[in-house]
Amino acid sequence: MKVKVDLDLCQGHSVCLGECPEVFDVVEQEDGYPQVVVLIEEPPEELRKKVMSAAMFCPNRVITVED
Ligand code: SF4
Repeated sequence: MKVKVDLDLCQGHSVCLGECPEVFDVVEQEDGYPQVVVLIEEPPEELRKKVMSAAMFCPNRVITVED
């Protein structure tokens, strides 16, 4: 499983962090706005459910998961 995010569309809602803090963090950028940081680009299989929840509930739908 490979996690990708579209940073052009991420608005830092932190829903991803709430769903799966093992894989997603949200940090303030130089411009003062928060954005997602992917901590593990290829997470282990046991995190799949949480990663998929993050992707599903991200308000901007910027998280994609590839196999
Ligand atoms: S929930 Fe989506 S828009 Fe919000 S910080 Fe996470 S990836 Fe970005």
